Amino acid sequence: MITVSDWTPVEKCSLCGSTSFRTDFRFTNRLGLVPPARVVTCEGCNLRRLNPRPSDQDLDKLYSYDNYFDNQGPLEYSQYIEKRLAHFRNRINKIKNYLHKPSPPPILLEIGAATGEFLALASEAGFETHGIELSEGAREKALKTHGITLTDTPTSELPDNSFDVIHMNHVLEHLPDPGQTISECFRLLKNNGILCLEVPNEVLNDLDRVRYFLGRRKKVMDSHSLHHSYFFTPETLSSLVRKGGFETVSLSTFPQSLAPLRPFELKNLVLKVGLTLSDVLHSNGTVVEYYGRKPRI
Ligand SMILES: [Zn+2]
Repeated sequence: MITVSDWTPVEKCSLCGSTSFRTDFRFTNRLGLVPPARVVTCEGCNLRRLNPRPSDQDLDKLYSYDNYFDNQGPLEYSQYIEKRLAHFRNRINKIKNYLHKPSPPPILLEIGAATGEFLALASEAGFETHGIELSEGAREKALKTHGITLTDTPTSELPDNSFDVIHMNHVLEHLPDPGQTISECFRLLKNNGILCLEVPNEVLNDLDRVRYFLGRRKKVMDSHSLHHSYFFTPETLSSLVRKGGFETVSLSTFPQSLAPLRPFELKNLVLKVGLTLSDVLHSNGTVVEYYGRKPRI
């Protein structure tokens, strides 16, 4: 159970700057939000956001290690992340393919590095790695488990044109101003640098539609209902990164490595078939995985 004592109105859209919005009752209800929390849709660009959102102080409490990293559902965080390693390896290979003659070694920054698993794999694959993580508990875990030192230095203190790759895995939707973060990524990347993002395609993806229909999805407000400040679709995420100056390299709503078939699990086979169709037919799988390139200026 969580208590939020202060709420902050989010008057302006991070993508288009419009202050006009309408309440999205379907989204609000499906996330189990109770007043004053609600999801609104921007009248200018259709980007959804939580409005109002918990105050910064309350968010700090929601993001404490116990509340956040060790409260990800039925699995421990480490077990959950274990299931993502094949996906991370696949992503690192894609990034390598997309890089144009990187400096040896390519320099990669992860924003929101959590407990360091992606960076450990990137380091093994030959990248020079740097990671920012605001949770002190997660930083301690990364050091203890992988010997990786993460920092809480704000990106604003890092120099221009200093990275070949920036990676954010399920981070952008948590931030108070994703448009501003994308501009920061543009500034920090070298020419031809690669931005790799993954965000959830929440609530209205084909799998969640079925789960809500069958009553298999939660409808109560808990700390996880309030972590996300923004709710992206493939369209709104693409608009945001293009507005920030990036060229789209590729976009998928169901990367195949999200459901590995080894070791074999029937559930993954069903997900693979169903969500591949959702992705191919109408870009409506469970995530938005986006690769963009900073064009040579
Ligand atoms: Zn907007």
